[in-house]
Amino acid sequence: MGRGRALLGQPVRSGRGVAAEELRRHNLGVVLKHLHMVGPVSRSELTAKTGLNRSTVADLVGELAARGVVTAGPSKIAPGPGRPSPIVDVRPHGAVVLAIEVAVDSLAVATVGIGGHIFNEIRVARPRGHFQPGQTVVDISQLARPLLAALPAEYNLVGAGVAIVGIVRRRDGFVQCAPHLGWQDIPFPDVLATEFVLDVPVRVANHADLGALGEYRRGGLAGVEHLVFVSGDVGIGCGVIVDGSPLLGSAGYAGEAGHNLINPDGRRCVCGSIGCWETEAGERALLRRVGAAAQGEGLDALARVEELAAGGDPATLAALAETGRWLGTGIRGLINVFNPEIVVLGGLYHRFFDYMEEAANETAAGAIDVSRRMTSIVRSSVGAGAALVGAAELVFDDVIADPAAILPG
Ligand SMILES: [Zn+2]
Repeated sequence: MGRGRALLGQPVRSGRGVAAEELRRHNLGVVLKHLHMVGPVSRSELTAKTGLNRSTVADLVGELAARGVVTAGPSKIAPGPGRPSPIVDVRPHGAVVLAIEVAVDSLAVATVGIGGHIFNEIRVARPRGHFQPGQTVVDISQLARPLLAALPAEYNLVGAGVAIVGIVRRRDGFVQCAPHLGWQDIPFPDVLATEFVLDVPVRVANHADLGALGEYRRGGLAGVEHLVFVSGDVGIGCGVIVDGSPLLGSAGYAGEAGHNLINPDGRRCVCGSIGCWETEAGERALLRRVGAAAQGEGLDALARVEELAAGGDPATLAALAETGRWLGTGIRGLINVFNPEIVVLGGLYHRFFDYMEEAANETAAGAIDVSRRMTSIVRSSVGAGAALVGAAELVFDDVIADPAAILPG
């Protein structure tokens, strides 16, 4: 696996037409990105890893320290000859993101510092239904304020990143539709600003796209450059990383594999079409197969299914296996199209992985053989928080792209 190449930016050493100021700002981002992704290193290691010269790295670290995002601590006493080199690390509260996740059954908020440090995280279940965007923002604000108040003094909030279970225009965070929330044409950053004045940039993106980003940056297999993330709840979300970059499509709508046709003789989907993947492998399909024993829908019903499965109830195990086979049938198509190294399963499939894995692998085996053999189907290691982690990373990308533009001088 060619891991990690795209995780770290490439330094620019020189070049005609590259102004010195532009060069310095770019390299500032290269150093910060390395620290954000890798964690504490000695300044001499940082020099070796970035390929920049020693005095340049010392200057860049000095500037990042002055901007409050980096600390240069006591020197590590290295064995052998050579001068000791200070240990450089991120200062998490120097750049904090308010990460927000609007899911079907829950709302989650976290304060995340540069380097991926999670200061605090809270998730609350919400009864299933169609919550108005305004009410959702009021709820977010109530969850977020205590978290912001609990941050270390002199924290620097650099932005809010929001993951929404809907189709989101990446350019401006406009939510085209979120059928499972009952939302249509919502300028979410504006709604957030009217109810919750943060005075920082707000970035909004699709839940599964950010789940993929969270897995790619912080998951157990972080740095795998060809990754497909499939997350189940009522719907199915899908996010794709190709060659280390998120695949967005022309407006950010790529990855809606949950609405790929999988059963022409199937049921009507919330999108209006017949036989979409989520009508056979989503939560409703699972609960339909479990039947009356599930007693309803949503988190309570899933807890009941988990209980029945753990108790070895044959009908529940059969329902999980059948849903797993439909899951694998959809994954088969994704393997053929994207040739990923890993398919990471989140949400519903994370929860019931042990019961669905074998059945999913069975039907996914129908993918083209050379591609299937190099793909592993794995359970998410970030778990329920993958989209929240990705929402924070979305904003950190802006900081790393040009630290001097965002961090105080
Ligand atoms: Zn559909």
